[in-house]
Amino acid sequence: MCGIVGYIGKREAWPILIKGLERLEYRGYDSAGVALMQKDSLLVYKKKGKVSELKNFVGDKNVISGVGIAHTRWATHGEPSDVNAHPQKSNSGEIAVVHNGIIENYLSIKKALIEKGYHFESATDTEVLANLIEDIKKNTHSNLDEAVRFALQEAVGAYAIAVLSADEPNTIIVAKNGSPVVIGIGDQEYFIASDATPIIEYTDKVIYLDDLEMAIIKDGNLTVKTIKNEIKNPYIQKLEMKIEELEKGGFPHFMLKEIYEQPRSIRDSMRGRINIQDGLVKLGGIEKYEDKLLNAKRIIILACGTSWHAGLEAKYFFEELAKVPVYVEHASEFRYRSPVIYDNDLVIAISQSGETADTLAALNLAKEKGATVFGVCNVVGSSIPRATHAGSYTHAGPEIGVASTKAFTAQMTVLLLMCLFLASSKGELSKKQMQDILSELDGIPEKIEKALKTNEEIKKIALKLKDAENFIYLGRGYGFPLALEGALKLKEISYIHAEGCPAGEMKHGPIALVDENMPVVFIANKGNSYEKLISNMMEVKARKGIIIAIISEGDTHVKEIADFVIEIPETSDVLMPFVASIPFQLLAYHIALLRGCDIDKPRNLAKSVTVE
Ligand code: GLU
Repeated sequence: MCGIVGYIGKREAWPILIKGLERLEYRGYDSAGVALMQKDSLLVYKKKGKVSELKNFVGDKNVISGVGIAHTRWATHGEPSDVNAHPQKSNSGEIAVVHNGIIENYLSIKKALIEKGYHFESATDTEVLANLIEDIKKNTHSNLDEAVRFALQEAVGAYAIAVLSADEPNTIIVAKNGSPVVIGIGDQEYFIASDATPIIEYTDKVIYLDDLEMAIIKDGNLTVKTIKNEIKNPYIQKLEMKIEELEKGGFPHFMLKEIYEQPRSIRDSMRGRINIQDGLVKLGGIEKYEDKLLNAKRIIILACGTSWHAGLEAKYFFEELAKVPVYVEHASEFRYRSPVIYDNDLVIAISQSGETADTLAALNLAKEKGATVFGVCNVVGSSIPRATHAGSYTHAGPEIGVASTKAFTAQMTVLLLMCLFLASSKGELSKKQMQDILSELDGIPEKIEKALKTNEEIKKIALKLKDAENFIYLGRGYGFPLALEGALKLKEISYIHAEGCPAGEMKHGPIALVDENMPVVFIANKGNSYEKLISNMMEVKARKGIIIAIISEGDTHVKEIADFVIEIPETSDVLMPFVASIPFQLLAYHIALLRGCDIDKPRNLAKSVTVE
């Protein structure tokens, strides 16, 4: 995680850097800092806490400079503190580094440097890199770019770095391995950032460095080479992102804005991909690999967090509609097991940011073992889409709230389309069945609009339940992954302990937790498991649990049992998760708000998880 920003050019660097940090704050907010180039020295300001703390700390101190680098941190090595904040300086104070990632062999490098007389103030791996660069630069009398290049040949691990040296005032060195970095190209100026959001308002021309590549920006020129010194011809891409997508648009929080965007983001994720009349799905991104999909004996889904829950919903889609077995794997476990992969396995890697380190490593492992890998990602040009054989983007637009909402429903949309594409190619679904599902899917944004109208009702429920210490979420079938996702949403932003579980599993353990203080949320839409679910509800009621039920509009039966109901438009089982996600998201949002939590930046979390 962590966000890095850099600027070199004719403008003042400070306002660009600070605004860039604000845009990247979703990536971490343990501390923030900046290094500004002066005539022959570096001015460094850094502070524990959010970017606003850094701004207050800097106040009206000197910030005049046309060259600078900045950082917003999600701590991996060393607690959040002023001293562990980046930029990290070398012992002489001449070199400053901002870093996203982990230098895995930092301890052995640190030991060697200590033997040479270096001392360390912070607990970070990044300070080790700063001193390694300094040591190489001094001993080999090389320029900064060569010193960085040699240092990176020694460093093992993931990094996106930007480096300044006081004796080369017109130079920024950028390098990447595993963590993302984008370079924006302006008119005699360059912008550096972890993603394109800090860059878009200045230029739409960008280059994405590949792993083990570095950019040397010196005296107005940009050179890209590998750390083995092969010169590269960088491909300049045009950004499609719009600046309005990065603002809150009148909503108090990005999370709420993103919840309300779902009718649009689902529509955008379907646009041009469905043909209701002919009962067909068109997914340009995977057409070339259609035979791999058709011949796959099984599908393995690799993902983390909310994307893993979208993957679990996809298991239900693929097994019911396309009749292919699906295994949903936590990427962090998969990569360190000895998974058995066959060359006719199809792997789908799901990640909003396209940078999730565990998912990227897991898919590379599957690829090495001969599987065909598809990606379902939201950020165009990110690492996972570049590492996969093929894939389909979700068109959710930038998701900034740390708790994922619109990315989840957009991922389910694309996964369902992949499933329908396969089911119709295999002949598992007739034209008529395809037409029916597609036309229902087409109507989902409208049903979500309706579900969003439950907001006021949910606010009232949140007020009654905000002081609960625990929550249980229960569902069956398509409602089970949703129960997991509902519990995750609540715990990550309100810090209430919450567990999701299959409703049928409750009697094997979780029911022991139920008493008059335990809110239990049921996904009780009118579907296949309705009757069974009512029985589970009665079991909770018998133990005086507080029942909150998400029900299909007009269901009077559950109304008599539950303490609170939230009515959503009726759908088929397959499409229920799209609509039922809305009340979960809103419930978590309102409870967190009433508890005074920082909705868009929940503690200890960050959005783009680029570390293991
Ligand atoms: N390892 C660095 C630190 O702890 C950077 C962390 C990150 O990118 O998440 O300061």
